[in-house]
Amino acid sequence: MSRCFNFSAGPAALPEAVLRQAQAELLEWNGTGASVMEVSHRGKAFMDLAAESERDLRDLLAIPDHYRVLFLQGGATQHFAQIPMNIARRDQVADYVLTGAWSEKAAREASPYTTVRVAASAQAGGYVGLPPAGQWRLDASAAYVHVVSNETIHGVQFSEPPDTGEVPLVADMSSDILSRPIDVARYGLIYAGAQKNIGASGLVVMIVREDLLARCPADIARIFSYAEHAAQGSLLNTPNTFGWYLASLVFKWLKAQGGVTAMAARNAEKAAVLYAAIDGSGFYRNPVDPAARSAMNVPFTLPRAELDEVFLRESREAGLLALKGHKLVGGMRASLYNAVPLEAVQALVAFMQDFARRHG
Ligand SMILES: *Cc1c(COP(=O)(O)O)cnc(C)c1O
Repeated sequence: MSRCFNFSAGPAALPEAVLRQAQAELLEWNGTGASVMEVSHRGKAFMDLAAESERDLRDLLAIPDHYRVLFLQGGATQHFAQIPMNIARRDQVADYVLTGAWSEKAAREASPYTTVRVAASAQAGGYVGLPPAGQWRLDASAAYVHVVSNETIHGVQFSEPPDTGEVPLVADMSSDILSRPIDVARYGLIYAGAQKNIGASGLVVMIVREDLLARCPADIARIFSYAEHAAQGSLLNTPNTFGWYLASLVFKWLKAQGGVTAMAARNAEKAAVLYAAIDGSGFYRNPVDPAARSAMNVPFTLPRAELDEVFLRESREAGLLALKGHKLVGGMRASLYNAVPLEAVQALVAFMQDFARRHG
């Protein structure tokens, strides 16, 4: 067996130690006589896992007591629609900040449930930076302001959350949650699909301020209501038990690595090594404003599009996986999530330098 260095944007690399533990426990988990997939989500063993995973996530992100943690399904995409359903009235506007493909999608999916207002957009520039501060037009009566903290496709990331005053800030953190410390108190609601920085697909982690749960309307199906999920401890129906279990292992792994502060330092180093190699190459190019560059997803292009196929084939042969860029942006993309070690980035840079020498 040979595991490669995996730069996939998602589903993405998992820590090898986590996979090994899951493998070791696959047939028999935690004294239950069965695998974690084969036991009741209402039994003591799984309920203990649920409680402990929440405690670990609360420790990792220093989540204040007046926030609830939910473990949901549907992918981040379902919550693009479900968030306005829960926390905006139909006669209210919701402010959206467009910084790339994911924030566009979020706005589109919200539009059947609220009046979407674009409060700021970097679309005209091709999403190579954040909208300049002076161009934001927030509506003080909006139900919430929605941002995507890290644009997985365009490689644009907020370094700090925007100040939205009294209006709750809602952030899709699918591709950068747990990659750095955050001040949860600056957000009303944080949500993230698990398959980038948490674990396997099919699980969504949500951190929501209690007062926003009070907005959830009583006349929507219970399965769509965040207040109902919170009241039932995320066990309103059968959760994604295996995904939740994998997330619990990743949370333990992160704690053992020194938590999100240690991860942030490593992630910054990984990104610095790769951006320096791109900028210094005279061959590769990343178009994003350096102040808004993502530490998680690094898109880059080659000088001639006909080299793309060669680069992909040779990188795959060198044991470097999934470098093909998203079709909206073209070129390549290296995703450097928590589970991607510095050695992977060093191997990528060495390959890129050799490739540039041979094709420059
Ligand atoms: C991957 C991703 C999504 C979509 O996640 P799904 O699980 O496919 O719904 C949404 N937002 C961001 C920022 C993402 O990176």
